[in-house]
Amino acid sequence: MVISIIKGRDMKDQYGRNIDYIRVSVTDRCNLRCQYCMPAEGIEMASHDSILRYDEIIRICKILAELGVKKIKITGGEPLVRKDIIELIADIKKITGIEQVTITTNAINLKKQMKHLVEVGIDGINISLDTLNRSLFKEITRRDELPRVLEGIEEALKYDQVPIKINCVPLGRKEQNIEDIAAFAKDHPIHVRFIEMMPIGMGKDYHFLSEEEILKQLSKTYGTFTPYEGTLGNGPSHYYQVEDFQGKIGFISAMSHKFCHNCNRVRLTSGGFLKTCLQFETGSDLKQLLRGGASDEEIKEAIINTIHNKPKGHEFLSGKIERENNLSMYQIGG
Ligand code: SAM
Ligand code: SF4
Repeated sequence: MVISIIKGRDMKDQYGRNIDYIRVSVTDRCNLRCQYCMPAEGIEMASHDSILRYDEIIRICKILAELGVKKIKITGGEPLVRKDIIELIADIKKITGIEQVTITTNAINLKKQMKHLVEVGIDGINISLDTLNRSLFKEITRRDELPRVLEGIEEALKYDQVPIKINCVPLGRKEQNIEDIAAFAKDHPIHVRFIEMMPIGMGKDYHFLSEEEILKQLSKTYGTFTPYEGTLGNGPSHYYQVEDFQGKIGFISAMSHKFCHNCNRVRLTSGGFLKTCLQFETGSDLKQLLRGGASDEEIKEAIINTIHNKPKGHEFLSGKIERENNLSMYQIGG
């Protein structure tokens, strides 16, 4: 019986992986239009009705916590454009069993919202920033918003108690100057992670720059990168220490160093679909269950079955496209 996979408050899939982390996308709207994530225009924004409501998100998070989920990452689209975001985080923080609530943001609204995020006890903030070159930033994101992003980061750095990480997707453009992004870890006690582009949505039009290529490039400026043996965070990143750096340099190398065997996560899209792998369409429509009047026990059973059937791993490099999802990152939440 599938229910037997829950021991104590652990939720395991068919491969024995313990799923204790969920990324919850609270909107598919965004105030940027990153070329590799969202189309420039013509996006059919989901109607308000097709996005999970506040009470629905809270209900699913409570059920997930009862099943063993302990960490929640709030994502989007851009989560800070959702009007009730602060109250939502405050209420998720109150759920018994949830130990950590973090957020990933493009930082445009961070100057205004940082204080409120701290007040409700946010446990960490990941900021996505691909370049400090204003004209390239404008080209990549299709918006001239770098100054506001930098103000947001400056504000976030005032709060020592909140761990900040910067996430950057290298695009192989010289003028991106990823050395400048790495410098955040030199100048501040924060970690900078480089994420390999995945062929999802618009990301399919790009070639990923591998960890080895990035390391080679960064070493020319910063010298030796020594692998860090300790663990930091709960995710798939691994880290390097660099002399004179206050923070570490991390990599999320889904393409060159596949980490699916250690995957501890599932995703809830803004439309209420519980998605078990970034690449495949496998999962279940929890919104339909909720709105169809399902009981908590019925929803729990659906979640347990869905997680049990989580695919073994992605097949990005094998060219296998069977049952591949047709969602873009702004819909999935990264
Ligand atoms: N708007 C927020 C932000 O930018 O942090 C949250 C959502 S965004 C989809 C989350 C992360 O996904 C960002 O760091 C973005 O760079 C990354 N991302 C988007 N498309 C990607 C792709 N094809 N491959 C790898 N990362 C991607
Ligand atoms: Fe928006 Fe984040 Fe996607 Fe950029 S990466 S378009 S900021 S959702």
